[in-house]
Amino acid sequence: MQMTPGPTAVPPRVRDRMSDPMPNPDVEQSFFDTYDEVCEKLKRVYDTDDDVIVMGGEGILGLESAIASTVAPGDEVLCVSNGLYGDGFADFVEDYGGEATVVGADYTDPLDVAGVEAALAEGDYKVATMVHCETPTGTLNDVAPVLELCHDHDVLTVVDAVSSLGGTPVPSEHIDVNLGASQKAFSSPPGLTTVAVSDRAWDVAEERDPRSLYTNLLPWRDTSEQFPYTHLVANVAALDESLSMLLDEGLDVAYDRHETVAAHCRKRGEELGLDLYPDAERSSPTVTAFHLPGEAKAVQSELEEEHDVVLSTGLGDLANDVLRVGHMGYNAQVEKVDRVMDALDTVCSE
Ligand SMILES: *Cc1c(COP(=O)(O)O)cnc(C)c1O
Repeated sequence: MQMTPGPTAVPPRVRDRMSDPMPNPDVEQSFFDTYDEVCEKLKRVYDTDDDVIVMGGEGILGLESAIASTVAPGDEVLCVSNGLYGDGFADFVEDYGGEATVVGADYTDPLDVAGVEAALAEGDYKVATMVHCETPTGTLNDVAPVLELCHDHDVLTVVDAVSSLGGTPVPSEHIDVNLGASQKAFSSPPGLTTVAVSDRAWDVAEERDPRSLYTNLLPWRDTSEQFPYTHLVANVAALDESLSMLLDEGLDVAYDRHETVAAHCRKRGEELGLDLYPDAERSSPTVTAFHLPGEAKAVQSELEEEHDVVLSTGLGDLANDVLRVGHMGYNAQVEKVDRVMDALDTVCSE
């Protein structure tokens, strides 16, 4: 059983949909219709009136495209970070010739709002980046105060909501480029990146006029006649089905389900004497990280070999210190978390 924080297990209904006959995405109107429906459904999940586009390529394509399309060489960019993905934005910015300033915080701390305020008062920032759910540490960040400050200073905002979108509400207000992906809380296969783009972000991209094709958002602005390249028909059909499941359930019901399952996971961990990383208050409804310094990899192997339970460890410096249970989308079920925690109980008591 696979309980990683993405890719998540894909429900049978979604897998079935992928075996439907495949329209030619360059020619057949039925594909254009499905694509439009997917974008409309996504608007409801993003809770936005902004345009939503779906690009062929997994989540990282969206992150890189957001920077490639909004950052011109020499632009100052504020990268607000308390984790690996937050830090990673600075690398993309530098790759595209921007000047990144990182307002960093320890991985166990919240975003440094005071630091953001001070930086914005001083610098001439064009764009700010931040991460809603830092998946590697299971942390859900309160991005609203940072977005508010950026709005006050007229700074364009880019948010990575890849591992929160669909599992917990993402604050859409004051976000100019809002990034998601198919393989996290949507429980679709990896292969698609979703992007909500504000009018202002489109304007900035037009002005920037990126020279790339693959990492350029602009060719996706109007796809009523054609897509920039052959779209991933099976993946788009799968995402359509996943979104129907989510919207049929009801967004609020689904968000509550994630909260309940996450609370259950934390409670079971506490009963086993496991420490949370970083703490219960900021633990994401989509992923729980347990702090097992120096032991995470051994426990992960034991779980997979003896119990057929697949979890993730940490990344980077925390590779062997953190064990992560993904409970997003189709995997946000109390019974599934119980199965994981029962196995973890056995492994820990050995
Ligand atoms: C999964 C994830 C991504 C996208 O990474 P992939 O390579 O597409 O899996 C980006 N940001 C965050 C926070 C993620 O969890």
